[in-house]
Amino acid sequence: MKGKKGVAILGSTGSIGTQALEVIDTNPNDFDLQVITANKNADLLINQAIKFRPNNVVIVDESLYNKVQDALFQYDIHVYTGEESLLDVVCGEDIDIVLTAMVGCAGLKPTLSAIKAKKNIALANKETLVVAGEIITKEARNNGVNIYPVDSEHSAIFQCIVGEFHNKIEKIYLTASGGPFRGFNKDDLSRVTTEQALKHPNWEMGQKITIDSATLMNKGLEVIEAKWLFNLRPEQIEVIVHPQSIIHSIVQFEDGSMKAQLGLPDMKLPIQYALTYPNRIKSNFERFNFIDYPKLTFERPDEKTFNNLKLAFDVLKTGGTSACTLNAANEVAVDAFLKKRISFLDISKINSQTLEKVEIIKNPSLEDYIMIDKESRKVAEELI
Ligand code: NDP
Repeated sequence: MKGKKGVAILGSTGSIGTQALEVIDTNPNDFDLQVITANKNADLLINQAIKFRPNNVVIVDESLYNKVQDALFQYDIHVYTGEESLLDVVCGEDIDIVLTAMVGCAGLKPTLSAIKAKKNIALANKETLVVAGEIITKEARNNGVNIYPVDSEHSAIFQCIVGEFHNKIEKIYLTASGGPFRGFNKDDLSRVTTEQALKHPNWEMGQKITIDSATLMNKGLEVIEAKWLFNLRPEQIEVIVHPQSIIHSIVQFEDGSMKAQLGLPDMKLPIQYALTYPNRIKSNFERFNFIDYPKLTFERPDEKTFNNLKLAFDVLKTGGTSACTLNAANEVAVDAFLKKRISFLDISKINSQTLEKVEIIKNPSLEDYIMIDKESRKVAEELI
């Protein structure tokens, strides 16, 4: 790889953000960390800044600005605060790639700002593509920006099509672990607790995506993400439950040939690949051993019990702002579930009822998405 890549990490204090910093720490000759940001976790942000010495740091919560500023004053690191500053820091001239590792729709505006500044995107923040995939992909095309997927399934698809960009995809199979409640029926699900939902069998992740994995909303969001990343029709996307999470996803080409990408579940690999593409750099990640996994198994997802997955396919077909509504309702419902205000099964109920109540705008502008996001959150909150 020529020179060091200038990297900005939006959401450096989260699960993806901290793993990205491990990748950068292990490969100091490949990366030049320019920007890190957090919402509220000032202590970790300060420690990260002192260790990695980025040029710019953002703490979004304004009440924490003085604390971060005082701690970093002597290190010649610029500290900013407020949502709007995220839009500016991603534009710095030494930045080559922006890793969007924030959670939720809050990632939308900074991602758009980075694209308009012609920065390549390593995209973890799937909600951005779910909400406004049409605008994001159009802006990326117009600005000559590449979007490299970080989500392990989409990274797998991407790794399978490298060298095959001229060949048509017939179909993709997105694999799903099935989450902690695989095999449960509605009656079982009516009794599950927040603590149980937060225990994912294969992946250590932030709270929101862990709950989304338990409800299969995460797989639904990934279906929508895949549509935009790889320009697919709904019928070209199939979800298959693969509880071992070893095959990260599969592409089927028009001649019937299928390619899969395999490995132990470890997000550092897709993060690293998104940051170093088209190169692969040596890693010490634990290697997969076939003998430890004599059985790799596959099942159909249970869309009747886990209604969120069906809702995602529905909005994919409906188009317009419907995916934006589903995402907003889900963010509100998951937050309420984490605060124990609603039950596990209420999450998909609130999602589907919000979809019924909020109007759909066809061919939306960015302002329409922002308006519908707000309206959907209000409706979901009222339902709670
Ligand atoms: P975490 O909750 O662990 O981290 C989220 C990060 O975003 C934190 O740095 C947090 O700051 C920051 N943040 C949260 N809200 C805001 C806000 N309103 N404004 C600015 N910054 C904010 O999430 P994950 O790392 O698990 O997930 C991040 C994204 O990556 C999600 O979109 C998720 O779907 C996706 N993803 C995650 C995977 C994983 O393994 N974790 C796998 C594949 C995709 P603070 O710490 O201060 O709260």
